[in-house]
Amino acid sequence: MRKKERKENAGRESACFICKREGEFKHGYDGLEFEGASYNIRFCPSCGLGKTFPFLSPERLKKIYSSTYREDDSTRFPGPLEAVINIVRTGRCRRVEALAKKGRVLDIGCGRADFLLLMKGRGWEAHGLELDERIKERGGKARGVELKYGGLEENRFPDAFFDAVTLWHVFEHLSDPAWALGECKRILKPGGTLVIAVPNVKSLQARMTGKHWFHFDPPFHLYHYSALNLSRLLEASSFKVEKVRHFSFEYNPFGFLQSIFNRMGFRANLFYDFLRSRHRGTAEDYFCIAVMFIMMPVILPLSILLSIAEALLRQGGTIEVYARKQG
Ligand SMILES: [Zn+2]
Repeated sequence: MRKKERKENAGRESACFICKREGEFKHGYDGLEFEGASYNIRFCPSCGLGKTFPFLSPERLKKIYSSTYREDDSTRFPGPLEAVINIVRTGRCRRVEALAKKGRVLDIGCGRADFLLLMKGRGWEAHGLELDERIKERGGKARGVELKYGGLEENRFPDAFFDAVTLWHVFEHLSDPAWALGECKRILKPGGTLVIAVPNVKSLQARMTGKHWFHFDPPFHLYHYSALNLSRLLEASSFKVEKVRHFSFEYNPFGFLQSIFNRMGFRANLFYDFLRSRHRGTAEDYFCIAVMFIMMPVILPLSILLSIAEALLRQGGTIEVYARKQG
């Protein structure tokens, strides 16, 4: 299909791109709010793939991203928490290396390139793609990492170029995931490793907190996957799923914590916004945050325990899927 035609059709067709079922998505959640707009989540009755409606065009999303999503990502969380996150990210490197032959890695949606800098330090040739406009100016080689502005559509790599391609919490943002997967397959070497980390819509935290689940994140998360339907998609695209990890220290306990607060009736994602200093809060917001801190000695251990429980049940709040290109 031609690029323009494909873009126009992205997200509008009623057929499910994973199980190919015809007909509408249904049985979802209504009235998820973001910045004064309302969104609905609908599911494919056959494979359970979730989809956000209205399904915003890449152009509309880009506008909302630049105004709200990461206005300053120099620090995502307060210092000590960032330090812990860095230790956790080293674990990502080790898990990729457990499957992939050391060589050339591409991280799609690499953000500040934290992961790539770690990989570079471990002897990898590191490449990153990022939609952040600031990459345009900085661009090129930064601290030994090749950074390019844009996505896979604007940046074409040679066939069989990479040993590993990673998408850490990016795949759920893609409006044409089937095409992106085909492109990943093309640029991976035979036997190359693909890693996709996404929220898990069949997780314990998603099922316990329903429409209040933190990781629905409308309108940014366009599709909502499970371990089962993502594996099915990968296998239909000639990848072999080697491993699915259900615990993420970085994402899962926080996902539970914020979803529990949302479920209790606090303004959606207030604590997250507070941590990221995203909003100058009202007096009421600060009162609510004070109440959250008072409840923290109960809610935080509970969230950690529940995250461990859901991982043991293979129903983690977010999942990392490790797959190998066949042939
Ligand atoms: Zn389906």
